[in-house]
Amino acid sequence: MSEITKPCVWCGRLMATQRSSKKLCSAQCHNKYHYWRAKEQLTNKGGFGVLKELLSKFRHPNKNHPSNDPSNPERLAYEIECLAWRSATAELKALTAVIEGLKQQGHIEV
Ligand SMILES: [Zn+2]
Repeated sequence: MSEITKPCVWCGRLMATQRSSKKLCSAQCHNKYHYWRAKEQLTNKGGFGVLKELLSKFRHPNKNHPSNDPSNPERLAYEIECLAWRSATAELKALTAVIEGLKQQGHIEV
């Protein structure tokens, strides 16, 4: 059987394994993952799904996970995108309120 290299879902370090289903690199990561998912009231499988989702949003619960490194350029790009999205949403809300006001005062008809 050939060996594959994949990242541990808890610490992010690469591990060599023969099992494609292997997700955690060590007993320590095992313990930390199960402690976290029990606290979050997630099933074993559910926990892995939530971890994947959090990782895609750079919100991995393990503070030492490489995706949480503040100097990670991908993480920075994501934070900037979120900020831009939030400010665009706020501006859109403000504009919508102005338009609603104008409609109510009869200045514009839609
Ligand atoms: Zn690990």
